[in-house]
Amino acid sequence: MASKIQAVRGMNDILPEQAQLWERFEDTVRDWLRAYGYRPIRMPILERTELFVRSIGAVTDIVEKEMYTFVDQLNGESLTLRPEATASCVRAAIEHNLLYPGPQRLCYAGPMFRHERPQKGRYRQFHQVGVEALGYAGPDIDAEHIVMCARLWRALGIGDVELELNTLGSNESRRRYRARLIKHLEQHAAILDEDARRRLHTNPLRVLDSKNPELKELIENAPRMTDEMDAASLQHFEGVQSLLREAGIAYRLNPRLVRGLDYYNFTVYEWVTGSLGAQGTVCAGGRYDGLIEQIGGKPAPACGFAMGVERVLELMQSAPHAAGTAAPDVYLVHQGETAGHFAFRSAEQLRDHGLTVVFDCSGGSFKSQMKKADASGARYAVIIGDDEMQAQQVSIKPLREAGEQRCCAVAQAAALIKLNGVE
Ligand code: ATP
Ligand code: MG
Repeated sequence: MASKIQAVRGMNDILPEQAQLWERFEDTVRDWLRAYGYRPIRMPILERTELFVRSIGAVTDIVEKEMYTFVDQLNGESLTLRPEATASCVRAAIEHNLLYPGPQRLCYAGPMFRHERPQKGRYRQFHQVGVEALGYAGPDIDAEHIVMCARLWRALGIGDVELELNTLGSNESRRRYRARLIKHLEQHAAILDEDARRRLHTNPLRVLDSKNPELKELIENAPRMTDEMDAASLQHFEGVQSLLREAGIAYRLNPRLVRGLDYYNFTVYEWVTGSLGAQGTVCAGGRYDGLIEQIGGKPAPACGFAMGVERVLELMQSAPHAAGTAAPDVYLVHQGETAGHFAFRSAEQLRDHGLTVVFDCSGGSFKSQMKKADASGARYAVIIGDDEMQAQQVSIKPLREAGEQRCCAVAQAAALIKLNGVE
């Protein structure tokens, strides 16, 4: 036998059992995005490396060490599997002049790639659902994004997520803060770890995000971003907060919250949970007013967020009232060749009535088919043998609750099953 070929480390097959949960999530997400007027956009998974270097920032974890970058053998171009989709979405909007008629609410979903150490909730191919509102300046759209996330958690039955909120202020106040932070960190250079020392002059805000407990005190005592903030920045932030308060959204202000990508300014936030261990951030977003211009577009404000689908699904599964995988309504059990043909047609008729039907293709004994019916999770077995075929009827038997088997025409069976009305 030839040796087995396995999937690439950190890249997962999503098997049918799981994939059903994915579809349930995707159905909910589609309705939710429509309810807020977001229109889908689909970008290629491969982009020029330059796009991410310019948008995410050369001295960020993602660009420094997490990207799948390679040279196209045929033309020598440097390409990268997208580590996130905001840059691609903005590139596409610029390339196709999407903002010409006015601001755009866009959404996307799909796989992202980062070369990280695989562990629970952290993979090398993972999935995001994200939205980008391009061309909107006001705090109302920042608040809309947060309110809409809260609605999605409710729709998915997820309770255990909390909102952490911060503002990085305008680019100008962020620059001022950066200088002041560097000074503070330099004064304590002796206790900085290697990562922090490396970032001190390239990306000092990221030091605030360090998970190293030895830096905790230093970070606690660091100057506060809001101390350097101009009035307009504070006003924008207050605008977001007042809309959230009115919508009844609870949040925690976290002045240390910075994002791993360089393009953010003003509002930034994360939805975090305590129930996923170390990988506790389920969704993250904020405003990135400079990005469109930075990658060659006409200057325009924008904001957006992205959620990690694997982490959201993990939460869905641990939610106390999460629905199980979608079982079929009917498992169709049949015996005998001619009865098989009648059964095949009957399955189609049941589906015409809107039922989900799994047709037995095992050809096994009645007993083994009934076992399969039970294992499928179906609510009903519809049974067709010679007797049923001669009467042009079907037998239905409830599988999840007590009840007698009964015989009737296919249309009536469908009606009874839909009403759940078989005694
Ligand atoms: P983290 O701090 O967990 O590395 P991040 O700040 O790098 O997250 P973002 O770039 O903001 O993450 O991506 C948005 C969301 O995508 C994250 O909140 C998370 O839910 C998810 N995510 C990011 N990286 C991964 C990964 N490697 N595997 C699974 N999900 C991920
Ligand atoms: Mg990361």
